[in-house]
Amino acid sequence: MLKDIYYAEKKLTKALGKMAKNATLGRLKEAFKTHQAQTEDQIKKLERAFGILGMTPKAKKCAAMDGLLDEADEHIGEYEKGAGLDAALIVGAQKVEHYEIAAYGSMRTFARTLGYTECAAIFEQIREQESDTDEMLTSIAESVVNPQAEQEMEDVKSGGSSGSRASGNRGGQDSEAGEDSSSAVSGNGNGFDREAGDEALAGAFTGDDRDGDAETGSPMGY
Ligand code: FE
Ligand code: FE
Ligand code: FE
Repeated sequence: MLKDIYYAEKKLTKALGKMAKNATLGRLKEAFKTHQAQTEDQIKKLERAFGILGMTPKAKKCAAMDGLLDEADEHIGEYEKGAGLDAALIVGAQKVEHYEIAAYGSMRTFARTLGYTECAAIFEQIREQESDTDEMLTSIAESVVNPQAEQEMEDVKSGGSSGSRASGNRGGQDSEAGEDSSSAVSGNGNGFDREAGDEALAGAFTGDDRDGDAETGSPMGY
């Protein structure tokens, strides 16, 4: 467990740097950088936990983190830089944070149960950082990225009908971009791939508990 998450955190520090580099929105870039610094500190905390347990810090391949980061990487390759990619990065990062929240929640409980109080405290501290990061990402998604992604798509629609089909059918369309599933019908062809944009938004929406109230990104204590 400890070796697994140690591997995951080490790999994450690099990935978060890449995410920061690919994020467009300043607030998101900052969030990634801040969490990258936190992650470096988490690695030190884990090394302390290894020490308490009389172990030498050692990493063991975490297939889950590899997979989550592969997925996030795919998005970076798929989207143009901009609001669509920002939304995709948030989805990828939140999946990672949730994995971490689950891992540290379990580790804390096991440590506590086994009487390793100090280790339990370390894991709980880290779990809280992961949870705060998750909530921060939720708030960025809700307040900034999604409306902005929608705006970019509006811009493409009004300004960029040049090469692509006139798509007159969308004339009186409501602005609820992410909700109109039929939008995928109107092909792409534009610089800002609106199909992909819709997908990114839909992903960001469904990745979260939208019908709950403001307390999304619940600090999951399992
Ligand atoms: Fe972490
Ligand atoms: Fe793992
Ligand atoms: Fe994290």
